[in-house]
Amino acid sequence: MTATILDGKAFAARIRGEVATHVARLKEEHGITPGLAVVLVGEDPASQVYVRSKGKQTVEVGMASFEHRLDADTSEAELLALVRQLNEDPAVHGILVQLPLPGHLDEDLVINAIDPAKDVDGFHISNVGLLGTGQKAMVPCTPLGCLMMLRDHHGSLSGLDAVVIGRSNIVGKPMASLLLGDSCTVTIAHSRTKDLAEVVRRADIVVAAVGRPQMVPGDWIKPGATVIDVGINRIPAEGDKTRLVGDVDFDSAADVAGAITPVPGGVGPMTIACLLANTVTACCRANGLDEPSGLTA
Ligand code: NDP
Repeated sequence: MTATILDGKAFAARIRGEVATHVARLKEEHGITPGLAVVLVGEDPASQVYVRSKGKQTVEVGMASFEHRLDADTSEAELLALVRQLNEDPAVHGILVQLPLPGHLDEDLVINAIDPAKDVDGFHISNVGLLGTGQKAMVPCTPLGCLMMLRDHHGSLSGLDAVVIGRSNIVGKPMASLLLGDSCTVTIAHSRTKDLAEVVRRADIVVAAVGRPQMVPGDWIKPGATVIDVGINRIPAEGDKTRLVGDVDFDSAADVAGAITPVPGGVGPMTIACLLANTVTACCRANGLDEPSGLTA
């Protein structure tokens, strides 16, 4: 293996440390405690794990955590009423509605009911528009984490060829906007892309956000490229066990790449760290205070 391993666990701990420092300063100097409200509808097991982890880490950095757990049969009107209540609550600076929502609820309607200034997931249509036009936005957490890791490794990204595999609204598209904002030459690939291998071989930076286990082999990677693997896929392992792998075949890619994120322990831990960073940023903006540098795009 020749690649540098980009350790997301250690990086995320560093971000949480910076967030905790800013939270302490907000409390001491301004008497403000940043607050994050998380809304979970239903019993989805993966969502329950995420929400628990978010609540725990929110408290650990000194912020207030407000958890709202609603029954799976909660009506749209009830959910929208809760969102409106959180929009009005001055103790709440960030609101996250855990996705996916049960099928009878309109996700776009609910997300777009959140006050854009409190939309710490960055999914509100206003934030999508602000990011797309290069204006100050709340930036989706996973791509923000990827950008932070890339900037940390490369310094300037200007002029680099970047390929983002995947065009989802939560990862692929915002990732492409962020890379464009940092002056990369960006290609967005997807399931209809012709000759994906050739497209990926051109890239100095590859961001894989597909959801297909180990689909990017090492011989697609340009020697020395930086590989950011967003994918989280569970595959069968020995006996009746399972294990997590990314969208990139780590072993073969690590022999060619200059740097690579592992799965687990790469992009994954950065996502919640960036959620906390976004909450501090939202709190500072809401109070007209200088926002922490290095925690935003
Ligand atoms: P989506 O399913 O929303 O999007 C997947 C994208 O991959 C689509 O744009 C799709 O193309 C594209 N795609 C599918 N098959 C191929 C193929 N054979 N070749 C090229 N492109 C293909 O997924 P998400 O963006 O939500 O998530 C992607 C991965 O990232 C998942 O594994 C998910 O678990 C993980 N993830 C990890 C996070 C973290 O915290 N680390 C956070 C969010 C997601 P098309 O549009 O044409 O269908």
